[in-house]
Amino acid sequence: STVVQLNSKAAQFISKPLKMFIGGEWIEAQSGKRIEVRNPADGSLITTVPEADKQDVDLAVAAARKAFETGPWPATKPNERAKLLLKLADLIEENGEEMAHLDTLDYGQPLSTTLNFARAAADNFRYYAGWTTRLNGETIPSSQPGNIFNYTRREPLGVCGAIVPWNAPFMNAMMKLSAPLAVGNTVVIKPSEETPLSLLRVGELIQEAGFPNGVVNIVTGYGPTAGEAIATHLDVDKVAFTGSTAVGKKILQNSATNIKKVTLELGGKSAHIIFADADYELALQNAANAVFWNTGQVCFAGSRLFIEDKIYDKFLTDLADYSKKYKVGNGFDPTTVIGPVISAKQKERVLNYIDIGQQEGAELIVGGEVKEGALAKGHFVRPTVLANVNNTMTVAREEIFGPVVSGIPFKDTEEVIHLANDTDYGLGGGICTTNLSKAHKVAHALKTGNVWINTYNITEPGSPFGGYKQSGLGRENGFASIDAYTEIKNIWVNI
Ligand code: NAD
Repeated sequence: STVVQLNSKAAQFISKPLKMFIGGEWIEAQSGKRIEVRNPADGSLITTVPEADKQDVDLAVAAARKAFETGPWPATKPNERAKLLLKLADLIEENGEEMAHLDTLDYGQPLSTTLNFARAAADNFRYYAGWTTRLNGETIPSSQPGNIFNYTRREPLGVCGAIVPWNAPFMNAMMKLSAPLAVGNTVVIKPSEETPLSLLRVGELIQEAGFPNGVVNIVTGYGPTAGEAIATHLDVDKVAFTGSTAVGKKILQNSATNIKKVTLELGGKSAHIIFADADYELALQNAANAVFWNTGQVCFAGSRLFIEDKIYDKFLTDLADYSKKYKVGNGFDPTTVIGPVISAKQKERVLNYIDIGQQEGAELIVGGEVKEGALAKGHFVRPTVLANVNNTMTVAREEIFGPVVSGIPFKDTEEVIHLANDTDYGLGGGICTTNLSKAHKVAHALKTGNVWINTYNITEPGSPFGGYKQSGLGRENGFASIDAYTEIKNIWVNI
């Protein structure tokens, strides 16, 4: 099959020298240093971006503060903010193909996936545009003597820091802009050093939409320097982070410097439970999609696959056959289902887990490294199915963040609820069964922020998303984000 040519606007974008977006201007890092951006499908250099450090973050925070305190943003009426968000949504949609091409180039996933993310990002802005004019307060009946009028207002927090990962670069970044902007905050956002392209292009769309200078500031830099400068900054009021649990813990500690409000969307080790009474074909399809979509680089990947013992052997064999049919390849090839993992380091890490699994007694039914042909230069790992895993093995405890599923047998509902919850994480959970009451009973018992029954991987702008336990703090999407990006002020008036 023919590989799709890089969209001409995307090609033009990466051919120009890329800068950071601070205070409405495109600028270099003060150190002059740059970060290489590589294509995971073949390891080639795409371009470079500025390497921000603390002094650049200081500049971005100052610009965001100015836009919040003295710029036009606080005076922008809710309906005007809505118009800007809707304009940006339209621009994202109009340029959706370019955004998708930049993401596919940068993190390797098929165009079908990155195009969906571009559409979902536009819808996310439209959803939050609707909230701008709905930030209602309350009036509270008072029992105090005299005539007291007691009411609340929702006010923006101020300057919000946002730090995002590489595994769905565009979508993750857009979720960190829509809600805070809708309620009147200004933002300093840092993409992952692995995947800065689509967010930098959005900076241009933000300008084109007509957002005032300094409302959105984009700094490109490494986590331990630029990221840490955001998390510790005394003039940043909130930090919203999506990434690993290990870094999430650091962010939480660092945010203590000035008691920042914190939202954390972290890692997972989600249980996907297949009961023997499930619709077999649907369960097979769901099990594969839940862990192999986005090459398994999904925080809620159904990486622990619990299968009722009666169907365990057959189901895993069929899953292995099913996943062999997935085309592994370049994301610009329209027949590709499984793109590369993000980097050589990540490939190493995933392969290492497959080895550890086997050393601890798991059986590799299918999968492993792609060593031969054109793909050998890129970071490709085949969909991998491990059998005979038990819930105490390393591959069942630690987040692999690659296309690797661990098949674990179970006897009955009680046992599987216990095993599914026996983890440090609590992000997602899946259940395949045709028994409605069993489905709900198990869904209620799972200690996770999201449960999918006879489906998987779906999210919506209006649906609260986040994790129990070490999978996170707070929720994103829906009203949860509005709440997380506003302060509530209570005002007492003696009339
Ligand atoms: P990561 O934690 O290594 O990096 C995430 C971001 O944090 C990057 O921008 C990085 O530069 C920055 N960072 C790194 N160290 C930092 C520090 N000390 N201070 C401040 N910032 C720092 O994660 P990753 O490898 O980019 O992404 C994969 C992880 O993200 C997985 O664990 C995955 O489960 C998680 N994730 C969670 C969700 C969710 O919504 N729960 C969504 C996507 C990904």
